[in-house]
Amino acid sequence: MWLTRPDARGILGDPGVVRALPRYVDVVRKKKHAKHLIDKAVEAEFGRRDPVETLWETHDSLLTEYKDVQDSYDTSGKKPKKVKTSWYDLKVLLGHHLMKECRFCEHGCGVNRLRGEKGYCRTGRNFSLHSAFPHMGEEPELVPSGTVFTGGCSIRCIHCQNWDISQWGSSGASVTPELMAVQVKDLADKGCRNLNMVGGDPTPVTWQWLETFRHVDTDIATVWNSNSYYSMEVSRLLAGFIDVYLLDFKYGNDECAEGISDAPGYWEACTRNHLMAHEHGELIIRVLVLPGHNECCTQPILQWIHDNLGPCTRVNLMFQYRPEWRARERPELSRRLTSEEIEEARKIAADVGLKNLVRG
Ligand code: SF4
Repeated sequence: MWLTRPDARGILGDPGVVRALPRYVDVVRKKKHAKHLIDKAVEAEFGRRDPVETLWETHDSLLTEYKDVQDSYDTSGKKPKKVKTSWYDLKVLLGHHLMKECRFCEHGCGVNRLRGEKGYCRTGRNFSLHSAFPHMGEEPELVPSGTVFTGGCSIRCIHCQNWDISQWGSSGASVTPELMAVQVKDLADKGCRNLNMVGGDPTPVTWQWLETFRHVDTDIATVWNSNSYYSMEVSRLLAGFIDVYLLDFKYGNDECAEGISDAPGYWEACTRNHLMAHEHGELIIRVLVLPGHNECCTQPILQWIHDNLGPCTRVNLMFQYRPEWRARERPELSRRLTSEEIEEARKIAADVGLKNLVRG
């Protein structure tokens, strides 16, 4: 086992973590099984040539059955038994269909990624792998987190700290899902608590990740580490595949989302995806406080989280903003936060009644 940060030791017994992520804690402690293994134990009847609409209907109709199968494995503790044709296989097939007319994110470019066409994110057919390592800087309950950085992103935040990865979709090493599966097993063997899919953003490589886990039998929790701008179709495919959603909630209104990240319709997509994540998995929300954006963003974001997901939602209120890449194009983003802004954001969280902040 890797040496972990002092605050990561014992964190799985922390009441806030147990309350927000009870199943994840049990998966890490080997009392329950990762969702991707249970998926593969759910029988699905479909033909590879069925119309796409029929495949989606079959997929969605199996969601209830998945929940029953998960409950039964959670109770018995037995190892999930892989079936010949599973719900998981159906997810991979639907992801493959989406690659032909890409609608992984809200931009909905409609390009044929299988034929090498590229859309807004400039992501190609394969993964563009930048790095894969046990990350010690994530939330303490995730550490050590087997984090995989892939190229390409569905939005264009002008202050992006990883712009060299996010904005150059094919700048890393081209890696197939089969090779990525070897990376996943290697990270699990190194004692990582989970497999953390990040970028850029994992959204443009949703199918590639699904295809990867077809080759992974290792019992490791999955973490979807995203900007929350993915489509409804992706949200449906992630249900029953992802154990922990690690989602950014970036903006409190569409004007800021469009002006800073070129993400039209962000509020609707982001809130919808948070509700889906809350329903189908466990959730940690990251809120990066931006200078000059407490009133327009921090306040409505934290209020929405409290009102729609509950006061005990696990929230990481982040204060490490620094101007990077093109941030100086906007005067208010050309500086770090003041101590007054940090105190104000903390006060907003307390005033709206959020009770489960990640301690930083
Ligand atoms: S993932 Fe990329 S190609 Fe697909 S819809 Fe989004 S921006 Fe367009």
